[in-house]
Amino acid sequence: MPVLSYVYELFNIDQCHAYIHTLRWKDRPLQCHRCQSQDVDPWGQYHYRPGCKRYWCHGCQRTFNDLTHTLLHQSKRSLAYWRLATFLLCLSCSSRRIARELGVHTRTSYRWCWWLRNSAISYETDRQLAGTVEADDLYHTAGNKGQAQGGGKKSLGRRARGRRKKHEPGRGHYDKDRPAIIAWVSRQGAVVIQATRDFTVQTVQKAADVAMHAGSRLYTDSASSYRALKGYIHDYVNHTKKEYARGEVHENRAECLFSLLKPYLRVFRGLSKINLPGYMGFFQFLRNFRYQNAFEQAELILQAALDPAIASRARRGEFVKCLDHFDLLQTAIN
Ligand SMILES: [Zn+2]
Repeated sequence: MPVLSYVYELFNIDQCHAYIHTLRWKDRPLQCHRCQSQDVDPWGQYHYRPGCKRYWCHGCQRTFNDLTHTLLHQSKRSLAYWRLATFLLCLSCSSRRIARELGVHTRTSYRWCWWLRNSAISYETDRQLAGTVEADDLYHTAGNKGQAQGGGKKSLGRRARGRRKKHEPGRGHYDKDRPAIIAWVSRQGAVVIQATRDFTVQTVQKAADVAMHAGSRLYTDSASSYRALKGYIHDYVNHTKKEYARGEVHENRAECLFSLLKPYLRVFRGLSKINLPGYMGFFQFLRNFRYQNAFEQAELILQAALDPAIASRARRGEFVKCLDHFDLLQTAIN
């Protein structure tokens, strides 16, 4: 469906609530989230939130509504804000851009963005590729942006390098503010993207075991960490000998994915290495649902956000932690 048919709904508060109501109860019976009783009756509306339906539970003698215990619970902003924010997030806008377009505070939009990204990542935590997979690696500059306690400047113990780090030759490392990103691209269409500390044999073996089913066919370049992999049918092309494809053996899809990932990350004007797994997870979601338009992707995210079980975990950022197989978050906290 074209985006216009969704945008139209944003102007009408009743339609917005009807949409959220359908999305919330589409796959589950209308029931009380406290006592799971389905013996509920309509119980009017809120004067300060027109359109939001309220229900009375005969089981526990209390009321609830369509938004209770979801990610949108007790938000002061109307549903149109949330739907538009999710839509803009799927168009890969930064949180500052969303704040500007919506007219909310940057801290509000930053919080919403991470909650919504976590909800999106709930679709990606168990993804494993099979069949023929291509892999490639990339090093991306990511520092301590926004990690100062209480805001403001953080004493780095070194000179500020500016956003454009002139990186040293050789492979990057998490401790040198240049963590590795490994992309696994299935020729059947799905992708898995991981942020890792480094590119050693142990890391790549662990990354492969998380990303692929054992026994999958794997095509890579000639990096020694790939050649040491165990448990896969592996073949590689030798870029130093100017060999980029040998029949079926190539990794052009993985390289193409990086050509999309780099401009996606440019939008944020510098990243924190703590947030790197989250950005990778959300980009993975966008790629895996790339045949749907931004409003359909936003609908998937909102559907997850309206599930109380997912919402409570998304608020705590637990889905990003699930993707962090390489203890990047743990290292950053210490
Ligand atoms: Zn109840």
